[in-house]
Amino acid sequence: MDYEVVIGLEVHTELSTKTKIFCGCTTEFGGEPNTHVCEICSGMPGTLPVVNKSVIEYAIRTGLATNCKITQYNKFDRKNYFYPDLPKAYQVSQLYLPICQNGFVEINASEGGKKKVRIHEIHMEEDAGKLVHDDFEDCTLVDYNRCGVPLLEIVSEPDMSSADEVIDYLEKLKAILQYIGVSDCKMQEGSLRADVNLSVRKKGANEYGTRTEMKNINSFKAIKRAIEGETERQIDLLESGEKVVQETRRWDDSKGESYAMRSKEDAQDYKYFPEPDIPPIEISDEKIEQIKNALPELPEKKKQRYMEEMNLPEYDTGIITNSIHLVRLFERTAEICGNPKDAANWIMGELMKMLNDTQTLPEDMKFNQDSLGKIIVMLNENKISRNTAKKVFEKVFSEDVEPEKYVKENNLEVMTDTGAIKGIIEKVVADNPKSVEEYKSGKEKAIQFLIGQSMRALKGQAPAQEVTKILHEILD
Ligand code: ADP
Ligand code: MG
Ligand code: ZN
Repeated sequence: MDYEVVIGLEVHTELSTKTKIFCGCTTEFGGEPNTHVCEICSGMPGTLPVVNKSVIEYAIRTGLATNCKITQYNKFDRKNYFYPDLPKAYQVSQLYLPICQNGFVEINASEGGKKKVRIHEIHMEEDAGKLVHDDFEDCTLVDYNRCGVPLLEIVSEPDMSSADEVIDYLEKLKAILQYIGVSDCKMQEGSLRADVNLSVRKKGANEYGTRTEMKNINSFKAIKRAIEGETERQIDLLESGEKVVQETRRWDDSKGESYAMRSKEDAQDYKYFPEPDIPPIEISDEKIEQIKNALPELPEKKKQRYMEEMNLPEYDTGIITNSIHLVRLFERTAEICGNPKDAANWIMGELMKMLNDTQTLPEDMKFNQDSLGKIIVMLNENKISRNTAKKVFEKVFSEDVEPEKYVKENNLEVMTDTGAIKGIIEKVVADNPKSVEEYKSGKEKAIQFLIGQSMRALKGQAPAQEVTKILHEILD
């Protein structure tokens, strides 16, 4: 029997506003436990929240960038539940009138071509604190620094049908959020987290199957494995005549399997009611217009422009525009060296290799954005060899050296003084009489050895062609 997979995502993203959603505490990640807290975000009785205006702006920006309608009259609601990381015993969220509705993000479909993943809504809410399990002391500690950090929850319709589509959706979403500057989307720090809702059904069936939800999986690779594992588990259940139970499951990535956490709760369990301490939010047409006009060029549009104006291949532009950090480096490099093609080639070749080898994400690159452009200029002006250029870029990548200074200080310029080059080669010839004799007695290959020795003596700073030419002049 053939099955198809149906997946909808609830994505939480932490906003990079300076302060929290209802108080003036910093949103900075980390810090000594319980130092980024005040009476409001630690839930003291008698305190009143005040909505951070930037959070509303960021939400509108996100809605517009994902083709949503902005709900011009929207409200906060209380979601009640008890858990030690939530000091108020309720989370301020939006249930009835979320700030953005009915949008979409376009992704690459597994079957080829494009498809739209519809966004049901985007709502604003506050993050909870963090529980830290201390095995050594055998206790659980609570850190409220994260309490009240603003979150957007982006809820998709169940429009994805494979792990690849889910990853593509998340990558597109992440790129958009980074471009519009609302979140750094660092998955390892929890600023982008996805809950995966998944069901299977027989191919061609009209009704959806029963779904399970896997919470807060925090890397793309783990999400892919979780989807594959859960799909298999559900199909196995159906094939053996059993039923899928609607529940929340935890994906254990190290074991490669999921296990039941709790039965699925619905809105009733949370006893939602309108938040009495916060007045409804009204957003004017002008405000929306103003935010829309200030939106930057978005990834898809940028990609098309790179392809059309710069004649770059689709694959390369896809990779570069997927990350605002690569975009910034690319645009600055192209500006300095005056050649987008060169900039793209160095990014797709040398940079990708180094990112990969060192397991570094583009957002964690530490070097000056001008450096790659400067290296390409030196190369194009024949001041350094291609080999040297690669070596300097490695130094830039690992130690953020200033390329021009580094080349000077280490004498890496190409030698332009033919007399000096000849002098060094003559010495090599004098030092290797055996090879010279072999070459002269007809062993053509022996010259390769002499070329190698000469290049080494010249530290690779003269073009190999030039070296070969001079060697022939001396020997022939
Ligand atoms: P709830 O209110 O119970 O959380 P929602 O309707 O808000 O349910 O859906 C939550 C998420 O689950 C959404 O992202 C939605 O796309 C997804 N979803 C809903 N039904 C299914 C299904 N049958 N299979 C897979 N995902 C689903
Ligand atoms: Mg939900
Ligand atoms: Zn606070």
